[in-house]
Amino acid sequence: MFDWEDTVPPVHDDRRSYDSPAARRLLDIRAVYAEPAAAASPRGRQILAGLPGVPVTEVSSHWRIPSLHGNDGNVARWTRVKTETLVLGVKRTLATRPNGRSADWIAPGASNGCAMACAYCYVPRRKGYANPITLFTNIEAIVEHVRRHVRAQGPKREPNQCDPHAWVYDIGENGDCSVDDLLCDNTADLVAAFRSLPTAKASFATKFVNPALLDLDPRGRTRIRFSLMPADDSKLLDIRTSPVAERIAAAADFHDAGYEVHFNLSPVVLRQGWQRDWAELLGHLDDVLPARVKQQAAAEIIMLTHNQALHEVNLGWHPRAEDVLWQPEAQENKRSQNGAVNVRYTPGVKSGAIDRLTGIIASRAPWLRVRYAF
Ligand code: SF4
Repeated sequence: MFDWEDTVPPVHDDRRSYDSPAARRLLDIRAVYAEPAAAASPRGRQILAGLPGVPVTEVSSHWRIPSLHGNDGNVARWTRVKTETLVLGVKRTLATRPNGRSADWIAPGASNGCAMACAYCYVPRRKGYANPITLFTNIEAIVEHVRRHVRAQGPKREPNQCDPHAWVYDIGENGDCSVDDLLCDNTADLVAAFRSLPTAKASFATKFVNPALLDLDPRGRTRIRFSLMPADDSKLLDIRTSPVAERIAAAADFHDAGYEVHFNLSPVVLRQGWQRDWAELLGHLDDVLPARVKQQAAAEIIMLTHNQALHEVNLGWHPRAEDVLWQPEAQENKRSQNGAVNVRYTPGVKSGAIDRLTGIIASRAPWLRVRYAF
């Protein structure tokens, strides 16, 4: 356990809604695992000051904590661990990777893991039996790394589907920035950094509506991508997220607050009735979004990718999800760049489904430009 003797900066500012019903539903932190350097850092101390009385256990690495990630008993407590556990670490390798689909670049994320529990989430695939939020506390180093990377690119000379003018950096590859903001200012710091980077734009996908983000003043330099799927799929698969209708209803507020608002149609899960339900969802988007949101909107389509190890874990806490996620007759194994064996729809199934979905978009929401389909 750590012993805190010096003063800590305040964590509860007026902007953050720790005590909102939505926050309370997601997070009730009762145990913190922290690397010593993370706990002692200004951001770490700030986070811990917001969790008075919560025991802090020192760990040598945020990445492999035997009693957490290596404890197969945690599968049965999958969502409870996400509610009650927080990990603080220092991100040691700061690297920006080229992407070219969701974004031009994948920035080093300020978190890994999530308090929500989507059954198809790829983040836990290499994390074993638990996947609560890990917050990285060396946010100054992360921001400085991104700033240097943006400056090294110079202006974007060729438009592409990511953006016609700005280099787009995904800042939330392995977590949800909207939820992280319930606990700390990492998301706010990244949004603020991109405000002063005229050649670049931050981007993150989210399934959580956090009104506190409306006060961050992004000035058009952050793209928020609300993830959407039919409500029935979401109820089964998007465990603990904000309802899809709430995400859609928030789009205009986020646009008016200075965000670029895109939609992440993902993952597309093929099952009986999927075309009818996507048509209904896109019709709803067309009905409720104001013209100013439609004008700037774009979408990405991402077909479901699953994974054998995650399938086994899911069977331990949410087997009903596997009825739709695991469909061997329509899927094939594919080894990804990092060596993991993933399961994807076969090329014929996938390309037929993408054709059908883009056709549905063209008829129900013709204003919605599809940036890419994968
Ligand atoms: S919101 Fe994103 S990071 Fe969180 S569980 Fe769902 S897919 Fe994973």
